[in-house]
Amino acid sequence: MSGLGKGLLAASLAKLLSASGYSVCPIKFDGYLNVDAGTINPFKHGEVFVLDDGTETDMDLGTYERFLNISLDSWSSLTGGQIFQNIIEKERQGEFLGQDIQFIPHVTNEIISWIRQKDDVVDVTLVEVGGTIGDIENAYFIEALRQLALTCDKSDVCWVHVTLIPFLQVVGEQKTKPTQASVKTLQGMGIQPDILLCRSEKPLNPDVRQKVAMFCNVSVSDVISGHDVQVIYEYPFQLLEEEILASVFKRLQMGPKKLPSLSTWRDLLDKIKNPIGEVTIGVGGKYTALGDAYVSIVKALTHAGAHLGIKVNPVFIETTNIATKDLDHHIKSCDGIIIPGGFGYRGIEGKISLITRLRENKLPFLGICLGLQCAVIEFARNICGLENANSTEFDPDTPYPVIDLLPSQRSVYRKGGTMRLGLYPVIIRERTRVHAIYGKNEIKERFRHRYEINPDYVSQIVANGFTFSGMSSDSSVVHIGELTDHPFYVGTQFHPEFLSRFEQPAPLFKAFVKSCLKNQSGN
Ligand code: GLN
Repeated sequence: MSGLGKGLLAASLAKLLSASGYSVCPIKFDGYLNVDAGTINPFKHGEVFVLDDGTETDMDLGTYERFLNISLDSWSSLTGGQIFQNIIEKERQGEFLGQDIQFIPHVTNEIISWIRQKDDVVDVTLVEVGGTIGDIENAYFIEALRQLALTCDKSDVCWVHVTLIPFLQVVGEQKTKPTQASVKTLQGMGIQPDILLCRSEKPLNPDVRQKVAMFCNVSVSDVISGHDVQVIYEYPFQLLEEEILASVFKRLQMGPKKLPSLSTWRDLLDKIKNPIGEVTIGVGGKYTALGDAYVSIVKALTHAGAHLGIKVNPVFIETTNIATKDLDHHIKSCDGIIIPGGFGYRGIEGKISLITRLRENKLPFLGICLGLQCAVIEFARNICGLENANSTEFDPDTPYPVIDLLPSQRSVYRKGGTMRLGLYPVIIRERTRVHAIYGKNEIKERFRHRYEINPDYVSQIVANGFTFSGMSSDSSVVHIGELTDHPFYVGTQFHPEFLSRFEQPAPLFKAFVKSCLKNQSGN
C-alpha cells in the first residue's frame, strides 16, 4: 500500500546493486491515467519531480536519482496514461489495421517492449509497480510482467514483494496475515515472489520469519526485514545486513563484481547521526499540509546539512492568509527561509510579506522559481515604487506586469508538458554571489515554469539595486537574481533541489544552509 516505503526500499536495493558494480536503471510504473505527473496537484500525490529531458514524474524518481546519483530519463517513468496514449496513437496510425485492440496482447506487449528498451545498455532493470496487489489500476501491468518473465530465462527475473507486517499492540505480536493474503493474491495472478521485503516497526522475530516463509512459499533466508530506521539513508546498510544481495544474486545467478563500497554514504550517515550544529529553516508555501509536496527541498536541505555536519530542521510555513504576528514569529524563530515553487494566487501575498521581512531583517533567503518571482514583485512594489506590481499569473490587469508570459507561451493552451521543462544552461555573471558558489561561468539546472521576469522591467529593477546574476544562454531572460547587501538573498528560476543528491549536494543549498548557520551564531 502507499506510504509503505516501497520506493525507498527499491532505491536502497538498486543502490546495493550499483555499489556491487552493476549498472542499474529503475522504471517506476504508476497506474493512473494521466500521461505524466505534470498535471497532478502536489496536494494529492506529492511533489512533481522533473528529469533532465523535461519529463514530469512521480516523486519516487527523485528517490532513485538521489540514492543512485544518476540522472534518469523519460524511460524510467511510465504511467497507465502513457501506455494507452502510445497504443491509441499506434491505432490511429493504422499499425493494428484490421485487429481489435485488447489488453492481452496489445497492452501487455506495449509494456514489455517499453521495459526491454534498455536491455542492451543496463545490467539490471528494476521495475517498481505503484499501488497495491489486487488494484484494477496495476493488474494489466502485473500480467505484462508475468508474461515478460515467462519469455526470459528463470535466472533473468527476480520478484520482490514489499509487504506489511503490522505489530498488534493488544496481543503484542507481529502479524503475518496481511502478507499471507497479498502473496495469495499475487500467486493467483501467476506470480510466486522470490523475496519478501517485510516492512515492520521492529526487526522481524525469528518465528515470524519462519511462518512467513512457510505460508508464502519462500526460503527463510529470502524473508528480509525492512524495519523502521531513524534515518532513511540507513536502509542500504539494513538490507545489506539482511543479506538481500545474496538472495537477489542467487536468483539472478550472478555475483558481486566488487564488494559494495558505501564509504561516502557511511560517512555522511555518521554526520547525520552526530551533528555538530542545528539550524531551523522555514519553507513558506501553500501545500504545507502535505510534507511530500516539498520533498526534494527537504531532501536537498538534509543533503546540505549532512555534508556540513549540521542537522537541518525544516518548518513549514503556510502562507495563505498568514497573520502579521505569525510572520514576525517565523522571522524570529527561523535561521533562514525558503520560498519554494508553486502555481496560482493563493498564498502569494503572504509570501511577499515574508520576503519583505527577510530582506529588511537580513535573514538568509532562498527563492525557488515562484520564490524568485515573488522576490521580484516585492522589490518592484517596495523599492522601485511600482505600486500593485504583480505577475500576470495572479493579476492579469496589473499596471506593472514585472512577471509575465513571453510571447512564445501566450499561444499555449494545452497544459500538459508545455512549460519550460528540464535541463537548461544558465550563464553566471562573474563577481556575484552565485558565481562564488558555483565557481563556474556556466551551469545546467532543471526548470519547470511558464512565467518569466519581464525583460521590459529588468533595467529599472537593476537600477534600484537588484543584481541579475544568471541569464539564459542567449541573455534574453533572467534565471537568477540576488541582493548583494544582504548575508544571503538569492532567487533562482530553476529548481536546484532537483539535482541534489545524498552524495553530491546542490551547491546553492549548501551555501544557503551554511549562511543560515552563520546567521544563527551572529558572525
Ligand atoms: N507559477 C510560476 C510559473 O509558472 C512558478 C512555477 C514554479 O514555481 N515552478 O512560472
